[in-house]
Amino acid sequence: MAPTLRLYNTLTRTKEEFRPIDPGRVRMYVCGPTVYDYAHIGNARPVIVFDVLFRLLRHLYGPEHVVYVRNITDVDDKINARATERGVSIRQVTEETLRQFHEDIAALGVLPPTVEPRATEHIEEMKALIERLVASGHAYVADEHVLFHVPSMPDYGSLSRRPLDEMEAGARVDVAPYKRSPLDFVLWKPSKPGDPSWPSPCGVAAPGRPGWHIECSAMAWRHLGEVFDIHAGGIDLVFPHHENEVAQSRCCFGTPVMAKYWLHNGFLQVEGEKMSKSLGNFVTIRELLATDRFGGRSWPGEVLRLAMLKTHYRQPIDWTVRALEEAEATLKAWTAYPEFEGADAAFAAPVLEALADDLNTPKVIAELHALDREGERRALASSLRALGFARALREEVSLPPELVDKIERLLAVRRSARAARNWAESDRIRDELSALGVVVKDNKDGTTTWEVAR
Ligand SMILES: [Zn+2]
Repeated sequence: MAPTLRLYNTLTRTKEEFRPIDPGRVRMYVCGPTVYDYAHIGNARPVIVFDVLFRLLRHLYGPEHVVYVRNITDVDDKINARATERGVSIRQVTEETLRQFHEDIAALGVLPPTVEPRATEHIEEMKALIERLVASGHAYVADEHVLFHVPSMPDYGSLSRRPLDEMEAGARVDVAPYKRSPLDFVLWKPSKPGDPSWPSPCGVAAPGRPGWHIECSAMAWRHLGEVFDIHAGGIDLVFPHHENEVAQSRCCFGTPVMAKYWLHNGFLQVEGEKMSKSLGNFVTIRELLATDRFGGRSWPGEVLRLAMLKTHYRQPIDWTVRALEEAEATLKAWTAYPEFEGADAAFAAPVLEALADDLNTPKVIAELHALDREGERRALASSLRALGFARALREEVSLPPELVDKIERLLAVRRSARAARNWAESDRIRDELSALGVVVKDNKDGTTTWEVAR
C-alpha cells in the first residue's frame, strides 16, 4: 500500500495530507530560471528538491498522470542589461543561458519537466489576463503602465501573512508617482527603445512588455488551468512574487486559491556565509561540475544531488566542501556494489515512507544507510535509481572537465533530437559518443545516463 503523502503547505502553515484535485492529472508549477547567466548552486536547490517530488508523484499517481510545469523567464531587465554589456543580441543571451542551464541540471540527474514554457511565447495569455483585471477593477492604466491595484483585493497578503502596514512601509521607499497605492505592482510597462516590446493591452499606445509576476500567472493558467495542485519555489519568492501571482490569478478567475498547496525550499549559504558576488563565495553549478573553484576540484553531479538532499528542503542548507566529500564517499560505496548495475528504479518501502512525509530526505538517506548495513543491496540500488542517481561513481574514472562538458553537450543535443523523434540524429550522436568511449543508456524512467566503456 502506498503511504499517504503529506506536504507542508505555506498557505496554511501546516503539514497536510495531499489530495489532488484530479488524481488523473496531478498538476505542479515551479518558478524557473531567468536566463541571463549561469545558474548558481542556490538555483539548483528547488530544481533538485522538486524533481524528487516530481518522481514521487509519478510513482504515486503514474508517470502519465503528473503534469510538471517549470517556466523559463526569457524577458527581463537583467537579460537586456547583460546583452548590452556583452554586445550581443538578447536572443543570444537567452539561448546560450538556457542551453547551459539544461546541461547543468541534466548532470544533477534532474528529469525534464512535462512542459517548459517560455514567457515570450505566452504574451497573448498575459495580455488577456491583464485586460480581465482592468475590466474587473483590479488593475488600472497609468503613465503607459498597467498596475495591479492591491487595495482592490481585501485579503491580499494571505500567503506571506505580512501585515499590510509593514508591506506598505517597505514599498514606500521611492514610490513611482503614477501608483495609486504604494503596494500596487506592475503588470505591464513601456519598453525602452531597443528592448523587446509587444503591442500593449488596455489601449496603451506605446509598445511594452510584461512584469515578471504576470508571466507565471499566465503560463500556469495556460498549462494547468485556473486552480491547480502544487505551486513551488524558493522561500525568497513568497513575497512579493508568489503573493502577486496569487493576487493576479485569484482576481482574474474569482477563485479562493491559485494552487491548493504552496511549497517553499529554504535558503542556501556557502561555508556558513550568505552567498554573494561581493563576498567572492558565489558558485555556479557549472563551476562545481567542471572547474576547481570549490574545494580545489570538480564534483560529479550525483554528489551535488546527494549533498543537496542531506538537508531537509525547508531547512536552510550550508553548502560545504566537507559535505560534498562525505556525499561522495557515501555514493562511491553505494554505487560500487554490482547490484547497482542494471538495477530498475523502485523505492524501498521505508524510503518511500520517509519521502511521503513532506520529502524527508535526511530520513531517506538514513534508511539507505540502514539498507546498506542490513545487506539489502538490491533494495538500496533500486531506491538510488528511483531517487535519480543513475551513474556509478568509480575511483578509476577521472575525465577532464572539458570532455565531460563535451559529452553533456552532445547528450543535450541528443535529448532534443529524441524529443523531436529524430531517431537518426539520436543514433548518430550515440555513435559519436561511442567514438569518445562513452556508452549511453536510455532508462525506463525517461532519463539518459552514460558511462565510460570499460
Ligand atoms: Zn513564478
